[in-house]
Amino acid sequence: MPDANAYIMNLMKSIIIACFVCCAMILSSCGQSTPTNNSNTTPMDTSNQKPNNPYYSHTDTTKLTLSDATWKSILPTELYEVSRHKDTERAFAGKLWNFEGIGTYYCAACGFPLFRSDAKFASTCGWPSFFEILHKNSVEYQPDNSYSMNRTEVLCGRCGGHLGHLFDDGPAPTHKRYCMNSVALDFEPDKKEVTVNEQQHDTITLGGGCYWCVEAVYEKLKGVISVESGFSGGTTKNPTYKEVCEGTTHHAEVVQIIFDNTITNLDEIFKVFFTVHNPTEVNRQGHDVGTQYRSVIFYRNHEQQVAALSIIKALNDAKVYDKPIVTAVEKFTEFYKAENYHQNYFENNKNEPYCRMVIQPKVEKFEKAFKDRIK
Ligand code: FE
Repeated sequence: MPDANAYIMNLMKSIIIACFVCCAMILSSCGQSTPTNNSNTTPMDTSNQKPNNPYYSHTDTTKLTLSDATWKSILPTELYEVSRHKDTERAFAGKLWNFEGIGTYYCAACGFPLFRSDAKFASTCGWPSFFEILHKNSVEYQPDNSYSMNRTEVLCGRCGGHLGHLFDDGPAPTHKRYCMNSVALDFEPDKKEVTVNEQQHDTITLGGGCYWCVEAVYEKLKGVISVESGFSGGTTKNPTYKEVCEGTTHHAEVVQIIFDNTITNLDEIFKVFFTVHNPTEVNRQGHDVGTQYRSVIFYRNHEQQVAALSIIKALNDAKVYDKPIVTAVEKFTEFYKAENYHQNYFENNKNEPYCRMVIQPKVEKFEKAFKDRIK
């Protein structure tokens, strides 16, 4: 039976080839990734959400427990299959695997913030890959033993939607690889990326106690393009939050503000600064005690130095506070951005006790005093 044997041999060959192709596709999502130059920064429609999703929010942290029928009615089909039925999109097929825009990645099903662009790295696996999540609550994990593999599934921290898997072959500093489905993510560029005239921009670095508080206020001021939380004025290069808290780095918690000086100006920036923190307290703001909480203005040029000294003198002369202002006015040298989970802390953690009890009152005080100047 030579023909039957040949048929069986050909059939077996076909099965082996098919198995090989399938295995290669599955294993490619587990392999060590290497950088690629095939990147894409071109602005594009990176939104995967459906316009009629009433649960979509970047600020609502309430857990979502919706029925499968509801999810099916509010999500586009491909997103629904990935998010609710753990489907995997084809490698190299999504919009975001080689995308390099600067901004934030959100859950496409519910809008929950998941990753920052500076935690994304070039990966040849064909899916968008990140070495760090935005916030400890951004995602949840569960074991996944499908396909005879022991993997860790990554789910959205708010809606529980399937996002992808976590592997231990990412780059430093975490050596993690959050291998995500592109369709499960929405990308929104930072506002500063869409601002056109860089010449109208100015930068100032201010320390007014806990940077979560100061950042939350300036994010709301008209004319402010971006606010980053970090550290300045110390001796340690690239300090961590933990090191700064220990008080040995001499850094202050600061915010670095980029603003459009055709919409706001240094004078208004300083007025806000002296409204939302107590500049008469030495090395503390309320219950936050330590040199990292000192009141300080880091000036970049003569104009900023003169403006800072002038407003301090004016406030002291007018006896606005019952004690003299202790705010230091120092030359700016270096700004070190704090870890990602410190950025936009108030917006991302509104239900935390510190946010409700300490930050929210400062934001409300600002909103009352500058009600015509809120974005
Ligand atoms: Fe979600």
